[in-house]
Amino acid sequence: MMKVYADNAATTRTSEAAVQAMMPYFTTVFGNPSSLHSEGQRAKEALEEARATLAKHLGCTPREIYFTSGGTEADNMAIRSAAFFGARKDKRHIISTKYEHHAVLHTLRKLEKEGFEVTLLEVGELGTVSAEQVKAAIRPDTALVTIMYANNEIGSILPIRQIGAVCKEAGVVFHTDAVQAVAHLPINVVEDNVDMLSLSGHKLHGPRGVGAMYIRKGLPPVNLLEGGAQERGKRPGTENLPGIMGMAQALDDACAHLDENMRKVTALRDRLIAGLSGIPHCVLNGDPVHRLPGNVSFCFEGIEGESLLLLLDSKGISASSGSACTSGSLDPSHVLLAIGRPHEIAHGSLRLSLSEENTEEQIDYIISSVKEVVQYLRNMSPVWRDLMTGKRQFITKE
Ligand SMILES: *Cc1c(COP(=O)(O)O)cnc(C)c1O
Repeated sequence: MMKVYADNAATTRTSEAAVQAMMPYFTTVFGNPSSLHSEGQRAKEALEEARATLAKHLGCTPREIYFTSGGTEADNMAIRSAAFFGARKDKRHIISTKYEHHAVLHTLRKLEKEGFEVTLLEVGELGTVSAEQVKAAIRPDTALVTIMYANNEIGSILPIRQIGAVCKEAGVVFHTDAVQAVAHLPINVVEDNVDMLSLSGHKLHGPRGVGAMYIRKGLPPVNLLEGGAQERGKRPGTENLPGIMGMAQALDDACAHLDENMRKVTALRDRLIAGLSGIPHCVLNGDPVHRLPGNVSFCFEGIEGESLLLLLDSKGISASSGSACTSGSLDPSHVLLAIGRPHEIAHGSLRLSLSEENTEEQIDYIISSVKEVVQYLRNMSPVWRDLMTGKRQFITKE
């Protein structure tokens, strides 16, 4: 049986080069970067090299990078930093969108309980937000705009540069959760008008449990933890040096092959979208044009996403029916609801997220497997029978 991993938006395989880059920091260069002896100083040098690598690929200075335990922590830290900074000037309004990752949405919900006011922008059917929408929502007391670079479930890429320009003009801090974008799209924090950015190692063929926050010089980072002097006292705790080295290696490799990978993955994506579009009564989610190279997201009417996933798994295909964070709950994904998909079809969602490790042969196998499984499930579905006999109205087109 063919094995196909198509859940790269949930996590990626740690590349061989990343694993190799990590190894010495477990075995030979195992010192604590805070130690004064030469073992510690070797570790410290490596840490600063990794910081410089991240800075180079984001277009910022090394001092503007803080290592974290992942994307979630970077999001929390960035948002809390801007909120704290705003509150000092009596600004307690935050603008975001309805379909952010829960690391952002739940942080904002907590801030609401702490006296902040949050405006969540509508994302429309294509799942995007315009700079004009942001401009119209900015108020004199707006402390922060936090909008993701690209959506993890439906793949839409947002007009970050234009949104950033609007924020800059209004003097509002702009944070972007770029976890799905870094190493997948060309990014430059200066050209993109971004003040703060979050990234994660395991979404770019680095290891899990490591990430980083970029925060523009002049904006004070706020601690989530109290402790030692690591990361200039802002993110205490002994650094995950192997993880950091693996992440820097993976990012370096991705950026060296960015154009080539984007071209390859986009071609695979378009082949998959074209193949699956042939299935009757399905709808593509997300922006068909401004779309992450690896994202394919569909809703199929008359079936349950979970059954679809399990049957695809039995055929060796790893996919997702939304985000890993919503699986395990019965509610349809907040992202699909935000783009206006009714509950009935939001339940029949399938996300296939590709990487440059996938092949055309795998894509063709996914297409034939999904076709087969969707038909099998529909044949057993009472809902589908009602749709076919006209007892129930179709939501999607033939
Ligand atoms: C995965 C993801 C996160 C969380 O990153 P972790 O490193 O898993 O904590 C945040 N935002 C987006 C858009 C993601 O896809």
